[in-house]
Amino acid sequence: MTAFLLSAALAALSPDPSAFSLLDLTRPGMEKVAEAVAAGNDDAAADALLAYFRSREASGSASEALSPITEEEQKWADDALEHRFFVHSGYQPSYFYGDDIDWTYWPVKDNELRWQLHRMKWWIPLGKAYRLTGDEKYAAEWVSEYLDWIEKNPLEGFDRERDSSMQEAPNVFFAWRPLEVSDRVERQIAQFTLMLPSESFTGAFLTRFLVNYHRHCVHLTGHFSATGNHLLFQAQRLLRASVFFPEFKDAASWRETSVGILSREISRQVYPDGMQNELDPHYHLEAVKLFADALGLVGDGVFPDSYRETVYKMIRIIYNYSYPDYANPMFSDFHGQHDMVPLYGKWRNLFPEDPMIEWLATGGASGKVPDYLSRAFSSSGFYCLRNGWTSDATVMVLKAGPPGFWHCQPDNGTFEYWRKGRNFFPDSGCYVYGGDAEILAMRNWFRQTSVHNTLTLNGKNLETTDSKLVSWLADSTGRASFTVENPSYPGFIHQRSVDFRPDGTVLIEDTASGDGEGVVAIHYNLLPCIPEEDFIHHRISTAFPDGNNISIEVMSPSYITMERKEGRVSYAYRHYEDRPAYAFSAFKRSGESVTFVTLIRPV
Ligand code: MG
Repeated sequence: MTAFLLSAALAALSPDPSAFSLLDLTRPGMEKVAEAVAAGNDDAAADALLAYFRSREASGSASEALSPITEEEQKWADDALEHRFFVHSGYQPSYFYGDDIDWTYWPVKDNELRWQLHRMKWWIPLGKAYRLTGDEKYAAEWVSEYLDWIEKNPLEGFDRERDSSMQEAPNVFFAWRPLEVSDRVERQIAQFTLMLPSESFTGAFLTRFLVNYHRHCVHLTGHFSATGNHLLFQAQRLLRASVFFPEFKDAASWRETSVGILSREISRQVYPDGMQNELDPHYHLEAVKLFADALGLVGDGVFPDSYRETVYKMIRIIYNYSYPDYANPMFSDFHGQHDMVPLYGKWRNLFPEDPMIEWLATGGASGKVPDYLSRAFSSSGFYCLRNGWTSDATVMVLKAGPPGFWHCQPDNGTFEYWRKGRNFFPDSGCYVYGGDAEILAMRNWFRQTSVHNTLTLNGKNLETTDSKLVSWLADSTGRASFTVENPSYPGFIHQRSVDFRPDGTVLIEDTASGDGEGVVAIHYNLLPCIPEEDFIHHRISTAFPDGNNISIEVMSPSYITMERKEGRVSYAYRHYEDRPAYAFSAFKRSGESVTFVTLIRPV
């Protein structure tokens, strides 16, 4: 659309007077708006409202709006001018959505590609590009796309029951899925802040914006997800809306609703040890970010004391299972590391009493590391073993917990092992979420139990994932010994004992017992490398030229078979690399038990 056409379209745009009834016009600063509304002059009221918003102190955080534009964001903004929209990093280069935008275009049947179109990730970059260059074309494009989206994505016929048949779901299901709605509620605060000074942001447009934004918030309050991380996002973003737009008559009730949900869900969704119940470091971190953000937004005295204590426990488990390079383990639907230092910087302000948060926020310049090393988080099943906190340490994180929610994988007993900057057993990751049969098959490959460092019967996925801690012993030298047990299949128990020693050596004893019969195998999935293999002695060694290497040796039973398996690791959505993977197997008869002993040691 050319600037001329847009100007004509914008000039012809009339205010939506319903915006005025949504606002508390008795607020200080709104006098002229109220007068014009009383006089029935919508144009004057819209202009007065625009003047009000342009001059008001913006409360609430729009900090994203103030960060500088990255090279990547500049590209998204420029591509958006041609309707090539950055929807998902897993689908690049960006697709063309038509001169006349087709918001239903779905080139690959991955649900995320269809849903995330409606997050409009390129709109904040358009705002930043506008602010940086002062070039009105970026603002004009945003206004044009914003109005086009409203027109083509009406909120009609929304039926959450269609969640189970997404391939046939109408567009409204994708455009108005509450998670996407909440995402827009958050991002549009920054867009509003960035675009407000532009010529294209007219009084008439402002009324359209406010009506649309209000509709989003109302839709959220009536369509909260039942539970899970979606509900957390929805509540926290509604809280942001209520703080940023206190002018809405409904703002106070939105705030009350959000605080109520977050207070309730933090006790429901978080185990006593501080882990979110999806048992996924990615979603755990997202949950911490939003719980902490909400705490910072409303200040002291609004949430109960237990809320603050739980947020603190959630942060503490992160730094216990993180590696000294700040990376999180890649269990479950993990897909990409976060920039952790700025987060610890924010959390330091909320929890100044913890010197480790200070230490992490400052890269070790101030604060101090905990006075313990290994720690068990046994209610969620995260076992964090370490001989130190700094970059020359060895850290092993083993996952063996209760049944987890959707993002969790059937991987009980699996672990990662990090030594001196190298994660030798990165989890396979998730690669992709949900979609048609082809996409789901890709997802399911990465979910398989056998692509994790644990034990299977006949190569099948675990049928039960409910590990219990049998014993735990850790001392101040870095030594930790513990045993976990999972009733993996009917009549089949897997007991895994780990002895982690101060030099980074690990002895693992796996016992399969019960009536179950068949081929029992333990699996080890290494990082991408060319290892040295010894099929006679059941040994594998890495051979990195920097000398930071390990060997894995399955020492017993003597009659096992060692074989290469297909190995993949996905460090980012829709990307994976091949990697060496092995299975060590033996036949187990009913009633007998088989014990594997594995030694992992630095060499
Ligand atoms: Mg996994």
